[in-house]
Amino acid sequence: MTDTTSASKHEFKAEIKQLLDILVHSLYTNKDVFLRELVSNASDALEKARFESNSGNETADPDQELAIRISFDKDKNLLVVSDTGIGMSRDELMENIGTIAKSGSAEFLKKAREEKGGLEGLVGKFGVGFYSVFMVAREVVIRTRSIRPGEPAVEWKSDGLGTYEISDLDETVKRGTRIEVHLKEDDGEFAEKQRITGIVKKHSNFVSFPIFVEDERVNTIPAIWREPKFSITKEQYEEFYKFLTFDSEGPLETLHVSVDAPVQFNSLLFIPRQGMDLPVYGKDRYGLDLYVRRVLIEHGNKDLIPEYLGFVRGVVDSEDLPLNVARESLQENALLHKISTVITRQLLSHLQKLAKDDRDKYADFWNNHGRLFKLGYSDYANQEKYAELLRFNSSRFEDAKGLVSFDEYIERAKPDQKEIYYVFGASREAVALNPHMEIFRAKGLEVLYLFDNLDEFAMEAVRKYKDFELQSVEHAEPASLEKFETLKTPQTVEPLAEEDKTVFSSFLDRVKNILGDRVTEVRVSSRLSESPCCLVNPNDGMTSSMQKILQIVSKDTSIPKKIFEVNQDHILIRNLFAIYKANQADDYLSTAVEQLFESSLLLEGYLKDPHAMVSRIQELLNKSSGWYRAVTNA
Ligand code: ADP
Ligand code: MG
Repeated sequence: MTDTTSASKHEFKAEIKQLLDILVHSLYTNKDVFLRELVSNASDALEKARFESNSGNETADPDQELAIRISFDKDKNLLVVSDTGIGMSRDELMENIGTIAKSGSAEFLKKAREEKGGLEGLVGKFGVGFYSVFMVAREVVIRTRSIRPGEPAVEWKSDGLGTYEISDLDETVKRGTRIEVHLKEDDGEFAEKQRITGIVKKHSNFVSFPIFVEDERVNTIPAIWREPKFSITKEQYEEFYKFLTFDSEGPLETLHVSVDAPVQFNSLLFIPRQGMDLPVYGKDRYGLDLYVRRVLIEHGNKDLIPEYLGFVRGVVDSEDLPLNVARESLQENALLHKISTVITRQLLSHLQKLAKDDRDKYADFWNNHGRLFKLGYSDYANQEKYAELLRFNSSRFEDAKGLVSFDEYIERAKPDQKEIYYVFGASREAVALNPHMEIFRAKGLEVLYLFDNLDEFAMEAVRKYKDFELQSVEHAEPASLEKFETLKTPQTVEPLAEEDKTVFSSFLDRVKNILGDRVTEVRVSSRLSESPCCLVNPNDGMTSSMQKILQIVSKDTSIPKKIFEVNQDHILIRNLFAIYKANQADDYLSTAVEQLFESSLLLEGYLKDPHAMVSRIQELLNKSSGWYRAVTNA
């Protein structure tokens, strides 16, 4: 029925043939993208039409509604995408479709040849423009008429196998482009309403022109990230957030960013109220949705945001990125990297402001997302802001809920204090039992509590905050703490008599003798007040918790050698000393020293075999119960 004149047959250029060959003969699972490409071309064409009429040029069919219409016929295996856009003249058709004008497609081809099997991602991520239609089409018929008044309508027809036919149309066709996709037998799904609607909603939901599938408008939520901030209500942000995340409640924070330099992009970022489990969220599920001019290119793009800010959900839309596979991928990564750098800085500043303006909300943020955020210790470029945003529980609080920042710690520090002290422990209870804490308690020095391995990495990375060194309580030399007044003097025994001092040092030799190679040294402690003894890292060693982490990583099961410190003013040590004075080779003495050593190992988390300890305690109880009976006349 088509009256055609001047029909002519043409060969595709060689590269296009290769491209088509790949598309026609490969089995892609994400064939969906062809529709995204057709819709985005239609949207571009409409944009150009709007520009034409706005610039006052005379246009064909000026009253047409600017819209995209998708219709289908299941019985004929037919899908039709029409637009009322700028259309094409015969020459334009030949030039735009049929030669590989697009550097993007050329780049795609190059990659496709290098990267066997990796094509899936390439097609999905960037599409290959119009030609991707041949993934699903056995024949494509384009009918188009240019917006310039007087241009005849043209028809283009191809099976994608090597040639296309082009002819002028006599009929009066309205301006715009209509693309008939005659689907391959196996691809009939693309002539089903639900399937079409699904794809349009997924990829083209934010296209700014209405998209109708049959008579139903499919894209209803506007791309508010491209609108000016002041024009958007809180409800609109919330609606969009829910659409994006399927969250049932609104976001904790919303951040709307528009940037022109060094790279142009609009972004809408949300911090959800609830965090996700780190292994699920941190590794795989993070990322921002990448749009190019309202068309979705990739869900969860990980180049746009660092992992430690992975709790953030949102979209990025950049004009600077071409929709098609284009240019060197390096260049593309450099663009994404620039965007990521800006987004990271903006998010950190936003969090700083939140911390300042709304303590409770920041605490909410911290409790839900703090764990992931701590991974930011490796972001050296933003380390100052990162450190400022960290929060810890500390000895100042009654329970594990309290949170303190480095800044607040510093504000409360003692006049001469130049360190921020911290201790690692599984819980507040475990920290309370740590002998290293005694001197800090006695002197009323605040100590930050680290309950999470990641805290330890954070401390190692930050090392210094403003003028303050971060120091583990294990590493604090008691001498360096002398300048701080001891607030409470714990009950102690009488000081060691002058004449006993040399004997005491031979007692320490005996203790070293009992423990042998398991300790590097035995010495008098100046850090203990409540405990009889403790283990101390030799100078400059790393903290015990870090040591443990590294041991787990390297599957090392040995027990590190440490210094055994003895509290010479503890009643238990004095008793042992008395026994030693009476009989240097006393058996009870060695049993007790063994037990004290193992108790210290237990507190440090190094005790491997509790069996020996149980039988030793049994032996000590046997003896002590006998003595107890004797003294109490039981
Ligand atoms: P790209 O969109 O990146 O330019 P495509 O392969 O998708 O690459 O399209 C090639 C060209 O064909 C477009 O640049 C445009 O000039 C033209 N074209 C495609 N679809 C349409 C359409 N619906 N209306 C007008 N021109 C179109
Ligand atoms: Mg395109």
